[in-house]
Amino acid sequence: MLHKTFFYTMAALFFLIPAAAGFTGAPAADRSSAPGPKQEQIRAFIYHHFGMEDQYPSTSVSVDQFKDHLDYLDTHDYTVLTLGQALDRLFSEKGVSEKTAVISIDDGYRSVWDNALPLLEKYGYPATIFIATAYVGGDNYLSWDQIQQLRKKGFEIGNHSHGHAYFLNKPKEEIADAFEADLKKSHAQFRRHLGHVPELYAYPAGEYSPEMADVLKKYDYRAGAAQKSGVIHRGGDRFALPRFPMNVNYAEMESFEEKIGMNALEVTKADPESPLVTPKNNPPALELHIRKNKINPDGLQCFVSGEKDCKMEISEKNKELVVEVRADDALTSRRTLYTLTAPSKDGSEWFWYSHSWVIPEKKPPQQ
Ligand SMILES: [Zn+2]
Repeated sequence: MLHKTFFYTMAALFFLIPAAAGFTGAPAADRSSAPGPKQEQIRAFIYHHFGMEDQYPSTSVSVDQFKDHLDYLDTHDYTVLTLGQALDRLFSEKGVSEKTAVISIDDGYRSVWDNALPLLEKYGYPATIFIATAYVGGDNYLSWDQIQQLRKKGFEIGNHSHGHAYFLNKPKEEIADAFEADLKKSHAQFRRHLGHVPELYAYPAGEYSPEMADVLKKYDYRAGAAQKSGVIHRGGDRFALPRFPMNVNYAEMESFEEKIGMNALEVTKADPESPLVTPKNNPPALELHIRKNKINPDGLQCFVSGEKDCKMEISEKNKELVVEVRADDALTSRRTLYTLTAPSKDGSEWFWYSHSWVIPEKKPPQQ
């Protein structure tokens, strides 16, 4: 359940960005975006393992790093909410406070209990833990008893599938059925052990498609979380929420501070919505409609994970920027991100948007 390719591609992406540029955040696309003041965004982080960096460097933070993160949130007066609480506030009239952060933890590893829980309890912070039900009780994983106790302590339990499968490996017309069959298996487990089905879902390995999002909507899920860097925004797609991945190489305070200070590049439409790359559309073209009221459009830059170059064609329509971005060369990794960044008008802040691409024929990262 390690997401090595993803982290390696993220690593490559981070190397490509000049340090002076800082890191900024962005929402997924949506067609019904409203202009949002700054309090309409949430910075969410994904963790997997804690204190397991020797075995799992691509998905673990050290205990000291995690403590530093919590200490930063505490000393800088951040409000730390579960993802469900944060979304409640984001979509309320009032919006969230500017300093709102979410700690999310995928897979449900045992080190959550052993190494993260004592610190979270010390600081009084909740977290949202996404559980893959087939693995509960296995070596290295939380037990249902521990998950029940975590829920009693105020932690939010989300769904991370039953079998942690790569659903996009199925032929396109079979994705929805395979996803729904797995969802039903996870629901049976959640009902049996927790008495209810979660309201939030995190896609295994962060790989999602519109077909999967439609199944989640059919089962009344409130949101689906992806694994692409960026800031959750009120105008973004609730079924492809961005989160910043944390691992030992990118969890140092400088990197954490840059991410907690990022802003959402307000994309109001992304075409295509599907992440699937086919031989005919490789490298894929992405068209984004971007609100320009907060950014300096002259500073817009594109990046492709895996160190490829990219080109943008920028025009204007209905007071929005229309940006077509495309890598110069064909994508070769299973997962690739196109990322756009822009500075604020005065250059003091940064804005970010990432779009995921998946080539299902490529092998998933090693488990
Ligand atoms: Zn996972």
